[in-house]
Amino acid sequence: MRHLAILLAGALAAIPAQAQTSSSAEAQALELLKRGIAFRTVAGPGNQTFDYANYLKAQLVAGGFADSDVRVEKLGDTAYLVARYRGTGKAKNGAKPILISGHMDVVEAKPADWERDPFTPVVENGYLFGRGASDNKFDVSTFVASMIQLKREGFKPGRDVVLLFSGDEETGMKTTAALSEQFHDAELLLNIDGGGGDMDEAGKPVMFGVQGAEKSYADFELSVTNPGGHSSAPRKPNAIYQLAAALQKIEAYEFPGQVNEITKASWLATAARTPDAKLADAMRRFAANPEDAEARGLLRGDPGYVGQTGTTCVATMANAGHATNALPQRATANVNCRIFPGTPIPEVQAKLAALIADPAVMVTKVESGSVPSDASPLRPELMKVIAKAVHARFPDVPVVPVMSAGATDSMWFRGKGVASYGVSPLFMKSSDSFAHGLNERIPVGEIAPAVTFYKRVITELAK
Ligand SMILES: [Zn+2]
Repeated sequence: MRHLAILLAGALAAIPAQAQTSSSAEAQALELLKRGIAFRTVAGPGNQTFDYANYLKAQLVAGGFADSDVRVEKLGDTAYLVARYRGTGKAKNGAKPILISGHMDVVEAKPADWERDPFTPVVENGYLFGRGASDNKFDVSTFVASMIQLKREGFKPGRDVVLLFSGDEETGMKTTAALSEQFHDAELLLNIDGGGGDMDEAGKPVMFGVQGAEKSYADFELSVTNPGGHSSAPRKPNAIYQLAAALQKIEAYEFPGQVNEITKASWLATAARTPDAKLADAMRRFAANPEDAEARGLLRGDPGYVGQTGTTCVATMANAGHATNALPQRATANVNCRIFPGTPIPEVQAKLAALIADPAVMVTKVESGSVPSDASPLRPELMKVIAKAVHARFPDVPVVPVMSAGATDSMWFRGKGVASYGVSPLFMKSSDSFAHGLNERIPVGEIAPAVTFYKRVITELAK
């Protein structure tokens, strides 16, 4: 097998550069993705992110990047990668680099629960299956292949394009924090792990979202302690009842309606393609006035829209008592909040404490590795470049700025003042979207358009 590999490598090297068309970039992207899935880049023992990063480095160097321009740094059980596509420094509006953010790690996948082994790439019925197939190895692979193709074609950007691949986006985001510390003097950041296209179930493209904002993520622990005692002699207060009362107050509360430049544009675009006239009207009214209680109420009744209307907090876990025949000595619950950009996390914590208004209930912030970030400004020139690249494939699809519920690597860069936009070119039906879940997959047919998209966008933005 080893000999075969060497022979193949020799045969490829013999093909003159100009004969390697972009179909070889597609083939390379598929190969990168299949090889990528096989690295078990899951946090914890046996994490192969460092090996995956070195594999990517080898491909970039073989594809024309200088060895000294690609750096892999180990951090804890994971690693991050920095690769610089050097520019001439002659870009027309300054020479600050364009940063590209993606992540190499994946969410844990238990082989016993999957139909196929999650770390063995399998192509079946036009789909490639495997953990990370979409999130985020699809974009990492297609982006790397498109950069190698641009090198082959001799493209020289006017400014540096710097690839920043983190290694713990799904968990602690320590590598992202390190990257944002080192790289924050930039024109803008494109996050290939955000945004993207939606298709309806018939495979018709519906919209393309450019993620320009995301909500902050925060967990708060509510806890009540009590001396406890024998359950045959109930007495007040009872930690479980105290906790339950606190949770009911949170359930009953609604945070104020909020909009920003990004969500306003998003509401109007969504209204334009919402067939239900009453709902579309509510979107327009809410965009104009988030205090419109009727419009807000209608949108908040829909799980698809509630997150866009403001901060939300909801109970997600609870744990109480230590024996069926004892009074509880301790009751705790987790309240998960998705905080509207611009609202400080401590403000939400103070609000929860004020709502509960019971000194027996402690409200503590749980360390989650999330940082607050403001919305990025809507940049018409950038939106134009993205729209052009999307429309080359799907001419009529609306390109819409969107806010996500968090949390992507972008928040770290936005937190450092770098305008960041999620622009993954992947178009998916919602029935095909299994990121973080079982049997994650992508349509293989999405690979070629993604390579073309990334080439177009980078050529346009970095020229
Ligand atoms: Zn991701």
